[in-house]
Parts: sequence; C-alpha cells; structure tokens
Amino acid sequence: MSITSKIQEYQQKLPTHVTLVAVSKTKPVSDLQEAYNAGQRVFGENKIQEMAEKWEQLPKDISWHMIGHVQRNKVKYMAEFVDLIHGVDSLKLLKEIDKQAKKHNRVINCLLQIKIAEEDSKFGMAAQDATSLLASEELQQLENVQIVGLMGMATFTDDQTQVQKEFQHLKTTFDALQPIHSNLTIISMGMSGDYELAIAEGSTMVRIGSSIFGARNYQ
Ligand SMILES: *Cc1c(COP(=O)(O)O)cnc(C)c1O
Repeated sequence: MSITSKIQEYQQKLPTHVTLVAVSKTKPVSDLQEAYNAGQRVFGENKIQEMAEKWEQLPKDISWHMIGHVQRNKVKYMAEFVDLIHGVDSLKLLKEIDKQAKKHNRVINCLLQIKIAEEDSKFGMAAQDATSLLASEELQQLENVQIVGLMGMATFTDDQTQVQKEFQHLKTTFDALQPIHSNLTIISMGMSGDYELAIAEGSTMVRIGSSIFGARNYQ
C-alpha cells in the first residue's frame, strides 16, 4: 500500500479527537513529502539532527514532534522550530528547553514521559515524580516551556492484557493530574501495533511509523 493511501486510511478511521503523529524516523524526505501531499502535517522524529535536516527541506507549516530521548546538549538544534517534545523526564531537561526557547522568543510545549512499561529499557518518570514536578516552584518559574500532557510507551509484548494495564496506568495518572493542571490535554500513547487499544484506553495522540512508511532499515 502507498504512503498516500495509508495516510488517507488513518484520516478516515481515527476518531477526530485523536491526533496522528506520522513517525518518519530513518525515512527519506521524499516519503515525508508524499505524506504531506496527502494532507499529513504532524511528523515525529527521534533524532534531533535528523529532524532539523528534514525541517530545513520541507514545507514550513509542518508540526515537528520530537518523540525520542532528548540529550540536553542537542536541544539548541530544535528550539527554533519544534512544536512538541514528547520525551521530557526531568526538571534539568525542562530548564535547558526553557533556556533555548527563550533565545527564540518561543514557548515550547512538552509532554512528561511516564514510565509505564515493565521493561528497564524504557525511559520515563514515575507517576509520583511527575506529580511533584508539576507542583514544583521551580517549574512555575520557567516561562518558555509549557507542559501540555503525558506520554507513555507500553512494553513490547503480545500480551494485550499487560499492554492494556500499562495504558490504563497512564490514563489514571492523567486523570489524577488534569484537574490540578488544566494545561494538560494530551495523552500520547499508541504505536502501529497497539494504537487501537491505546485509543480505547483514552489516547488523544498516536505515534504511527512502520504501518504508514513500511519497516525501518537501521544501518
Ligand atoms: C519509532 C517510534 C514509534 C513508532 O513505532 P511504529 O511501531 O513504527 O509505529 C512511536 N513512538 C516512539 C517513541 C518511537 O520511537
């Protein structure tokens, strides 16, 4: 199936309250252009330099999302244009994003990544740490970042019950925080293999790569 027809398929089948992030990491600019021509405007990348190179070459009305782990020393390469950073997991990182955003006179939207998977390899904060971060005095002083939601990645497993439990954990965390921090509107959860379950459990943003662009080839 072509990229164009995949994008059209998702445009039709996703509920209107769910945003599709087309995860284009490792894919050539021509693939992103094809998705763009089919109407896609939100793209997700997991390497800052790769995202910056694509940003330079593609139309400027694209919304760029950083979905990967963020190294602090590289925030400066995306501060001018990034629309949403999904993988924020510390105050230290938020301070750097704030500092770089200030240089461009911008407010950068961020999601706190919550560790919901059992696997050790997945990044993220404990729900309790996210709660205290959101309440902290230091966060209030950062004028150029805004936390607008939560992000999580489920364990890579065929066990649907476990994945469902992990998604429910993110939703429960969101529901507990949202009344206190009304800026929280986004729950980023769900990928090619589990987005339907994620939407059923309350996702408002799905990050879909291989199902749109085909399998990735890591060299
Ligand atoms: C690569 C990636 C995705 C997309 O995964 P697919 O299985 O190809 O849809 C989603 N989220 C994150 C954080 C990723 O790194």
